[in-house]
Amino acid sequence: MTATHLNPNSPWVLDVRTLGRRPGSYKPVTLDVPVDEPIGLPVIAVPAGGSVRLALRLESVTEGVLVSGTASATAEGECARCLEPVKENVSAKLRELYAYPGSTTDETTDDDELPRVQDDLIDLRPLVVDELTLAMPMVPLCSDDCLGLCSECGVRLADAEPGHSHEILDPRWAALAEKFGTEGNAAEQQTPRSDRDSDPSRTRPE
Ligand SMILES: [Zn+2]
Ligand SMILES: [Zn+2]
Repeated sequence: MTATHLNPNSPWVLDVRTLGRRPGSYKPVTLDVPVDEPIGLPVIAVPAGGSVRLALRLESVTEGVLVSGTASATAEGECARCLEPVKENVSAKLRELYAYPGSTTDETTDDDELPRVQDDLIDLRPLVVDELTLAMPMVPLCSDDCLGLCSECGVRLADAEPGHSHEILDPRWAALAEKFGTEGNAAEQQTPRSDRDSDPSRTRPE
């Protein structure tokens, strides 16, 4: 016996009475279930306020009600490389037997192995949450070839000018550049060794 009764008013709970118990009878069910608690991972989830579309086939079998079909939804998260918002359509195949109370399956399995038909109701939520979560990317990306952020300035490289980079001066040359100004430094940097001790004004082009 299960201690808690299913809430017949929950949008995740279906009444299977009309399906009947004759093995082989089935019924297609399509519904959009509103999401009140996020479904998914910390990095990407179907947010509260979203919805999950269920396209199901409920089939009466000897041991219970076999639910098969798909759950699909739009998950929202953040690109793991560039932190841009990411929206991804996720879809999961569902296949689960809800055992009739008193069936052999009911008597030979634990409640946490297989769900049960309770008071002619089945609760789709645990099944959908498990399968949709498994279908979500562990590392969401805005695109497969996302370049991420510049390690120097943090700009998103996809938004930066092509070839975005920073001139990183060797600290020794940076000090020289400061001392002599920037004019003519290109020449000095190409032949730094010989110029180091010479008067920079002599090596200046012009
Ligand atoms: Zn990205
Ligand atoms: Zn940068």
